[in-house]
Amino acid sequence: SQVPTITLNDGHQIPQLGFGVWQVSTEDIVPAVAKALQVGYRHIDTAAIYGNEEGVGQAIAESGIPREELFVTTKLWNANHAHHDAINAAQESLKKLGLDYVDLYLIHWPTPKNDNYVEAWKALEEIQANGWSRSIGVSNFQIDHLRRTIAESSVVPAVNQIELHPTFAQSDVVAVNDEFGIKTEAWSPLGQAEDLNNATIQQLAETLGRTPAQVILRWHLQKGYIVFPKSVTPARIEENFNVLDFELSTDDVAAIDALDAGNRIGGHPDELN
Ligand code: NAD
Repeated sequence: SQVPTITLNDGHQIPQLGFGVWQVSTEDIVPAVAKALQVGYRHIDTAAIYGNEEGVGQAIAESGIPREELFVTTKLWNANHAHHDAINAAQESLKKLGLDYVDLYLIHWPTPKNDNYVEAWKALEEIQANGWSRSIGVSNFQIDHLRRTIAESSVVPAVNQIELHPTFAQSDVVAVNDEFGIKTEAWSPLGQAEDLNNATIQQLAETLGRTPAQVILRWHLQKGYIVFPKSVTPARIEENFNVLDFELSTDDVAAIDALDAGNRIGGHPDELN
């Protein structure tokens, strides 16, 4: 089966299931991305701060897959929100990736204490106008950051990439994403493996003859979220892609919805600088 695509508010399409590479080391990055591309992933989620854009670019180049079949996301780091720094950072990322453009460029964190995410967003508007990124979006934006960005600029973000997994549903942020036609990308979709141990997830997996990771990824897809689980283990890279040939029932989805426990694993967007 094929990975479903989602149409963003700027008309571009994004594959709903991708491959994330946070914490993938210099030694692992090329084989991991190569394996993901071989299995069928066509969407890669990286960031300048991950330090592995070169490896992502190398694996893409070596794959021989036509550029237009791939969807590549990278992110602007917090230290580079000033206009000039953002422009330079985008060019630096393209150079490291060996690409003329990325498909999606994100503000990685709002860093509200620095009060410069609107300035960064205006730089992203320019980056999009320059053709360096097809789509632009944000990550870790809370409701007030979204509302202010939209009020003070002319492009509505295409996505908001937030921490989201069964035990951390962030329904309030998702509702505001929906209100503005912003697609929700779920980072740490497996809760960095914590949610795999949940008894309800394990029970569902057993009943369905699937793995806990597959059950959780399937839930994300049926919720309409964009996901990019991370693994460097070939068998898991494959396992996480094999989620297109089964469905959760409405009751199954509701049972997973009920697991929300406000279990934030990553940093709080209001605190991170
Ligand atoms: P994840 O929820 O994808 O979990 C990854 C971990 O789960 C792996 O390291 C592995 O230990 C385990 N795992 C993966 N597949 C498994 C399987 N099938 N069975 C058992 N264990 C398995 O966590 P993540 O890497 O934090 O998130 C995914 C991606 O989200 C990242 O790689 C990155 O691209 C993105 N991300 C973005 C931000 C942000 O601030 N925008 C923050 C964190 C992550």
